[in-house]
Parts: sequence; structure tokens; C-alpha cells
Amino acid sequence: MENERINLLGLDAAALSDLVGQWGGKPFRARQLQRWVHQRGVDAFDDMTDLARDFRAQLSERASVQALPVSTEQISSDGTRKWLFDVGQGNAIETVFIPEDDRGTLCVSSQAGCAVNCRFCSTGHQGFNRNLSTAEIVGQLWWARRVLEADAGSARLPGATAKAAEDTRVISNVVMMGMGEPLLNYDQLVPALRLMLDDNAYGLSRRRVTVSTSGVVPMMDRLSQDCPVALAVSLHAPNDALRDELVPLNKKYPLDELLAACNRYLEFAPRDFITFEYCRLDGINDTDQHARELIQIARRVRCKLNLIPFNPFPESGLKRSPHARVRVFAQRLMDAGIITTVRKTRGDDIAAACGQLAGEVQDRTRVAERRMGVKTRTIPIAKVSA
Ligand code: SAH
Ligand code: SF4
Repeated sequence: MENERINLLGLDAAALSDLVGQWGGKPFRARQLQRWVHQRGVDAFDDMTDLARDFRAQLSERASVQALPVSTEQISSDGTRKWLFDVGQGNAIETVFIPEDDRGTLCVSSQAGCAVNCRFCSTGHQGFNRNLSTAEIVGQLWWARRVLEADAGSARLPGATAKAAEDTRVISNVVMMGMGEPLLNYDQLVPALRLMLDDNAYGLSRRRVTVSTSGVVPMMDRLSQDCPVALAVSLHAPNDALRDELVPLNKKYPLDELLAACNRYLEFAPRDFITFEYCRLDGINDTDQHARELIQIARRVRCKLNLIPFNPFPESGLKRSPHARVRVFAQRLMDAGIITTVRKTRGDDIAAACGQLAGEVQDRTRVAERRMGVKTRTIPIAKVSA
């Protein structure tokens, strides 16, 4: 039975080595297998030609390489691509690829829905459905890389240096900024992050993998010890009263605690700053007074501030700050010496922008398709060649 097989996408190097060891195999076999699965994106064991025949037979019987089924793929006019993955029982999660001149970023989901329920987030608005498994998290990267590299016709050159290989990758960065709060799915997240970093799997440097959190303080501390990748913190408000309203988790871990956790994280972080994300909400968090308060907050942690445009969704009742206001706001912060970037929206014509990910399988994409004239195609997995 398919579902009794072990899905290799969910095993980090240590777990795969244990498994292969239990089957009587040597550790180098596990590494070979890992490269076939993650680097070459191969899911058919018979195609793994340099593995011993009896090992392949054992794998075919007891293991699988299985990403979630894809329902749709959408491509935005700006090149952003979004995949909708079916997680069963009428629920779906989304993964977004954002190509830029100097990098390609994959935005990965960690949960179906989210329990944090931030006021401005359509994922939160949907409520929580379930945690994703390690295999389901890694499967998003496995799938996207297979599709994108097949499209780009890119071949990995044997003998290329790790740095050169990293620079030419279609997916050069992963951000855990899709649906869900990654640090509330910690046990499944960490092996997934380890695979992203593993040289026998995706080989990304710790600086190119970012976990974004609404501020789950104890788990930030654990991450700093277990797998210290780059960290983004969703700040969105410069005082506790407002943050309590916008990011309800603030009632549990208020700003003082959050900022202290950021400083502790920095001792282990691969970058010497934390990224603070701040969603621009008209009249809510974008006044001069907020700018003054934010300067004080930002001075307490080595940080870069990312001013994200609010991507509206109908039920939020909130509006995006007007451009002129954002310019003044950003200038005040920069004048105070805070490194500030004003992020543009990508992929909003296919509802792939930050906070628009709601993963509704049925009507949403078809409605969006009719409304926007966006190219949507349904692709059975078997028909996409790697
Ligand atoms: N749960 C994590 C990661 C997923 S959300 C977190 O909250 O950090 C990724 C980013 O998108 C976060 O900074 C989040 O605050 C932001 N976001 C959520 N809803 C948004 C919206 N409607 N417009 C713009 N950004 C939004
Ligand atoms: Fe959850 Fe992040 Fe959305 Fe808040 S912003 S509801 S933490 S996904």
C-alpha cells in the first residue's frame, strides 16, 4: 500500500542514514540516495542507476518520493508563479516562486491555515487546519525546483564550485513566508530546514533560508540552537497596545520579550541583523507618532526594516497606506539611521502576494482566473517531466 511506504522527502540526512542502516546499507548509500531524490529530483527508484539493484528493489517495496498533489499552477504577468497543493479534505496550501534579477525566491508554507489570526492576514482569517509534515514542507521545494529547472532547461554542471552552483540556481533563496506560522510547527520545520541546507540535498547557505515568525519567543531560542537560519520577525506595530490588536500573539509574548529574543538570536544568526516586517496599514500604523515609536523599537535590535505594502482582501476592512505617506514614513526612519526598504508587491494579480495566500482550492482560482484573465493550467504530476 502506497501510504505504508516511507516518504523519503520527510527524512533529513540523519534519519535517512538511520533507515538505510537498518536495512543493512552503508552511510554513503544514504548520501547517494539523497542526491538522487533532492538534487536530481528523481522519484523513480529504477532510474537511480548507480544504486545496487537489490537496494533499488528494497526501496521500491518500502519507500516512496511523494510531494503533495498539485491542483493548479498560475503564472503572474510579472513572472511570479503560484502552485496550489491539495492537502486533503478540501484544504489546500500555496507555494509561490518570485523571480528577480539576482535571485529566485521560493515562498514555502508550513501549515494549512494559521491559528495566530493576525488582523491583516487572509491566511489567519481562514483559521487553522493542520500542520504540514516535513515531507509536505520539503515537497514544495522539491516540486518547484523540478518544474522550474525543467522549464529553464538548466543542468547542474558536475565539478562546479558550491558557490557557482548556488549562484546559478533557479531557486536561490527559500523564505518560510507562505501560509502558517512556522515556529508553531517546529518539530516538522527543523528537519525540513536541515534538508534545505544539506549539501547532498538543496545546499542553500543559512543566509539564504529565512524563517519568518510572528514572534513565538521560546521557539526563536530553540531555533537559534537547532538550526540558526536567517530570521524575519513580523512586527507591524511599534507599541504593545496596537500589536496586541494586529498580532494577537503579542499578548503572550509582548514587545520587550520579543526584542530580547531577537538580540539573543543575533548571537547565533547567519546575518548580523534581524529583518523586521511592517505592513503598511492606512491610518492604523503609519502616522508620525508610529514612526517615532518605531525608531525607538528598531534602535534596540540590529535590524533592517521592511515596509511591506498591505495586500487587501475583502473581509479585512483595512486599506493600504498611500504612497506619499509611506515615503514620508520611510524617510523619517532612514533619517534616524534605520536601514529601511520599501517592498513592492509581487504576484498580486494571482493573489500570490504576502498575506493573500488562502489556499482555497475550488472557487477561488477559477473566480480569480475569470476576473483577471490569468493563465491557469491544471497539471497532473505525471505529465511534468523533470
Ligand atoms: N506566520 C509567519 C510567516 C507567514 S506570513 C509570519 O507572520 O511572519 C509572511 C509575511 O506576510 C508576514 O510578515 C506577514 O505579517 C505578512 N502578511 C500577512 N498578511 C499580509 C497582508 N495582507 N499584506 C501584506 N503582508 C502580509
Ligand atoms: Fe499566521 Fe503569519 Fe498570517 Fe499572522 S501573518 S495569521 S502568523 S500566517
